[in-house]
Amino acid sequence: MSNNPSENTTSPGRSSSPSLMTPTKSGKLIVLSGPSGVGKSTIVRQLIDRFSSSLHLSISATTRPPRPGEKDGIDYFFLCSEEFERRRLAGDFLECCRVFGSDTWYGTLKSQVTPSLEAGKSVLLEIDVDGTRQVLSQFPNAETIFVEPRSATELETRLRGRGTESEEALLRRLAVAQSELEQATLYRHRVVNDTVDQAIEQIIAILTKAEVAEE
Ligand code: 5GP
Repeated sequence: MSNNPSENTTSPGRSSSPSLMTPTKSGKLIVLSGPSGVGKSTIVRQLIDRFSSSLHLSISATTRPPRPGEKDGIDYFFLCSEEFERRRLAGDFLECCRVFGSDTWYGTLKSQVTPSLEAGKSVLLEIDVDGTRQVLSQFPNAETIFVEPRSATELETRLRGRGTESEEALLRRLAVAQSELEQATLYRHRVVNDTVDQAIEQIIAILTKAEVAEE
């Protein structure tokens, strides 16, 4: 468990490949959402690798246990429920909510966002639809992108293929996915993840047009 995520405002372990973007004048929030299993993590990893000097990936905090291979402070800050609650009551989160209708909390720490924005760097949040609503109430100009699957069947196949969830957890994720797909109109942009390369090209075009990213 992480002891003090607020002190960790960087994303250790991420690639430091040269950026294709020129630094932005003022940092902007970019929110990327989409149902579990749609391939957001792959997209996010590639965007951060490509734009490492001008885009900071916010590392979320969660009370869910790490999956095999996941590392504290890199994939998430893995907090126990008591610590998450303490930080929530202390006002440390920009947004936070229980995802998948369970007791599992996820949240964006202000310490992951504010320093980068103030330094003129854009910040990428990979969060769910409820979290996006909370962010938009504070940052109405955030650039919001919803990644969708080609079809619901495709999503189920991907989630099952990942094999990381119990059947019960998987069914809960599919139900939440359905509800999220119905709320996709909240987002300024929608991108179908047909192939990862195509989806990334579309997202880069969106960021370039919004002057968050310049190639
Ligand atoms: P997973 O457990 O598969 O890593 O993530 C599950 C879901 O939690 C993802 O679809 C993601 O959008 C959402 N999530 C991850 N971090 C945050 C966060 O900081 N805030 C909110 N609201 N949702 C998050």
